[in-house]
Amino acid sequence: MTITTNHRFLGTCSVLGAAVDFEGGQIRGTVLPPAACHVVGELKPAQMMGRKNRNKHLTRMSTRKKVHAFVRVRPTDDFAHEMIRYGDDNKTIDIHLKKDVRRGVVNNQQTDWSFKLDGVLHDASQDLVYETVAKDVVAQALEGYNGTIMCYGQTGAGKTYTMTGTTENYKHRGILPRALQQVFRMIEERPTHAITVRLSYLEIYNESLFDLLSTLPYVGPSATPVAVVENPHGVFIKGLSVHLASQEEDAFSLLFEGETNRIIGSHTMNKNSSRSHCIFTIYVEARSRTLSDEKYITSKINLVDLAGSERLGKSGSEGRVLKEATYINKSLSFLEQAIIALGDQKREHIPFRQCKLTHALKDSLGGNCNMVLVANIYGEAAQLDETLSSLRFASRMKLLSDCPLRPTMLPWQRMVKNLEKELVLLKQELAIHDSLANRSHVNYDPMDEVQIAEINSQVRRYLDGALDEIDIINLRQIQEVFNQFRVVLTQQEQEVEAALRRKYTLIDKNDFAAISAVQKAGLMDADGHLVGESDGQGFGLGVASYSSKPGKKTKSRRTLKEQLSSPAKKEGGSSPVSGKDMDVSTSKTQLTPLSKEGDVKDMILRDRETSNIETLPSDSPKEEPRPPRPSTPPSKPVAFEDFKNERGSEINRIFKENKSILNERRKRASETTQRINVIKREMDVAKEGLSAQRSLREKQGEYEKKGLIIIDEEEFLLILKLKDLKKQYRAEYQDLRDLRAEIQYCQHLVDQCRHRLLTEFEIWYNESFFIPEDLQAALKPGSSIRPGMVPVGRIVSLGEDDQDKFSQLQQDVLPEGPESISFYNAKVKREQKHSYLKSTLGLSKAQRK
Ligand code: ADP
Ligand code: MG
Repeated sequence: MTITTNHRFLGTCSVLGAAVDFEGGQIRGTVLPPAACHVVGELKPAQMMGRKNRNKHLTRMSTRKKVHAFVRVRPTDDFAHEMIRYGDDNKTIDIHLKKDVRRGVVNNQQTDWSFKLDGVLHDASQDLVYETVAKDVVAQALEGYNGTIMCYGQTGAGKTYTMTGTTENYKHRGILPRALQQVFRMIEERPTHAITVRLSYLEIYNESLFDLLSTLPYVGPSATPVAVVENPHGVFIKGLSVHLASQEEDAFSLLFEGETNRIIGSHTMNKNSSRSHCIFTIYVEARSRTLSDEKYITSKINLVDLAGSERLGKSGSEGRVLKEATYINKSLSFLEQAIIALGDQKREHIPFRQCKLTHALKDSLGGNCNMVLVANIYGEAAQLDETLSSLRFASRMKLLSDCPLRPTMLPWQRMVKNLEKELVLLKQELAIHDSLANRSHVNYDPMDEVQIAEINSQVRRYLDGALDEIDIINLRQIQEVFNQFRVVLTQQEQEVEAALRRKYTLIDKNDFAAISAVQKAGLMDADGHLVGESDGQGFGLGVASYSSKPGKKTKSRRTLKEQLSSPAKKEGGSSPVSGKDMDVSTSKTQLTPLSKEGDVKDMILRDRETSNIETLPSDSPKEEPRPPRPSTPPSKPVAFEDFKNERGSEINRIFKENKSILNERRKRASETTQRINVIKREMDVAKEGLSAQRSLREKQGEYEKKGLIIIDEEEFLLILKLKDLKKQYRAEYQDLRDLRAEIQYCQHLVDQCRHRLLTEFEIWYNESFFIPEDLQAALKPGSSIRPGMVPVGRIVSLGEDDQDKFSQLQQDVLPEGPESISFYNAKVKREQKHSYLKSTLGLSKAQRK
């Protein structure tokens, strides 16, 4: 017998949990009356498909299939081998039921079912489950495809184990933590993109919405109840806190917070955690840092742990349990209807609003979304009813038609809006940093003419010596200061040239006709020297170099600089620099007096005065008397020791001090980390105890009176203990964060000191052993030219103790098993990227405490 149907029929048929399983398919087993809804999905020839192929298949899924359905079987010692069989293709699961003889010889009871899904996960590790079920969905989220992964099945079948996993064992972590890890790993692999990750954790219990992250200190009590709201851009949950997770570690602590709240909530508010739907959402927003690429992607990954699908309502339950069961049955069948309706191209209206679950997931079901369903089943004979029901649900999902997916890319208008929003946010952030640093009056808007004029005047006063320094305010101001320097410099050059032209005729040295004319007039000798001037004095020496031609000025200037810094570049080499070289390059233009000789002399005199001023010793620290120079300079490591006792002693002292503070902070952080781990373990133990107590209570039958549940003292004490542990955990965690910020800050200081120490050493080394003393006068502090600027860190080992490295290691590798090392390494890498501002913020927070 062959039955054909359409999805609409499927939808209607399944509303009240009536089960229908077919794919225009054949029925195996006993004859079925037309009214019966138990039908079998048609089986195509089994294809052997290894894991590799399965993954390949999944990769293509985004553009082809809408919903993928897998079944995961919970391991049990009491597996019903004679009733449950797996096909060789890893995709088929057959159920065989013995005929109920009480129904008589002729009965229409069906006894065989065969379900073909996208994969059967039997004895599968958490690793394999993640690879098969979630990896591609998460990967595609970063390409802009929404993704939803749901676990469906009766209570105890392993939904939470699949989704969250066990928190006490890193290896048994579930899809949630692994998805977070994958997202952050992918972000790291894409430095060209600015990607933000936000998280929320929603619980739906009896059609009420709860924010599992509302307990975080910075969320505060929400004034509005959590509700599903729609606007033209889509559906969102009003009142649900969404948290930025800038690194993996933040994301993990948010997840743990939510998990703990889920368990505490289930006890204090007396809602059974397996009777509620939990939706953990990862919101991803990505845009290219280069902005040349207008792609702007937003997507979300919903990880849904559905309420237990067992039908409690039917067996005479009453009160709270009945209410729960009714809500769950309704929401699960509405979920099914919505997904099926989405798969029907002809369907216009999709019944999303029928319940909170479908409404909240409106833009993440079917449609333009990668969807994966995991049906968790128990392999025991006693559970076969529920197993069948779960498999039916899964195979109906799998029937949905194929359709291409489009990434959720935003139109440019919306992208501009979002960027504007981000700009406002960043400005606010900046304002916070400024107020923390007592810089509340800083303005970051573009400068107007008046402000620019003020900066110009500052620069002039600075050049005149009337102003000692120009305060740094912000980047814009610094850039403008440089700009005005250029403006002033250009103006002065023009003024000088104009002044010279008023007095002299400037002759291009390549203009031989002009030169010979002047020579003929007797104003200059054949070597180009001015008549009446003694050689080697003043500025007008000989013929100007080619580089001094107009337009070549920069080259000439660079030559000077190069010559000054060359000894430093030749590390440890002899000094090629002499005063004469400098003089030659300062000669720029050949000057011929227009008027009386006296004018020339005046000018030379003035020039000498100016150069005298320039070479006057500045009021820099007095040099200590230096011992005579050795003929061969000492090696740098030896010299460095001397330097640390001599000129570098003060910096070295500060450097050491900072380092010891840093080490002390690191030690504290390591201790705090260990305490956190201990608390975490205790929390896990308490959680387990609570679950045990709870199931015991449920087994013994709850004492329920007028909606009040009586729990025994032990359970009550456990709840209190868990609460207390959580409080401790939070406090310690906060301490750790603050400590890390401090460590970063101290590290920054240590780095700065180290840099300074090395730079000063290089200067000292060159001054002491290489640079001719006469030249040093020209290079005194106060002059903008300092020799010895070789790359630091290349030559000397600062002799930093190994303790440093050890405590760093201890800090980084938490005792969570060797598998987690890469995870913590990734975290440290991210931390290193943190800006200086962030650490100051953390430090000031810690100081305010
Ligand atoms: P559900 O969320 O469906 O009610 P749980 O995930 O809480 O079920 O699973 C019930 C118990 O079974 C838990 O103790 C869990 O650790 C265990 N469990 C479930 N699935 C597996 C599995 N695949 N491997 C090992 N233990 C499992
Ligand atoms: Mg569960």
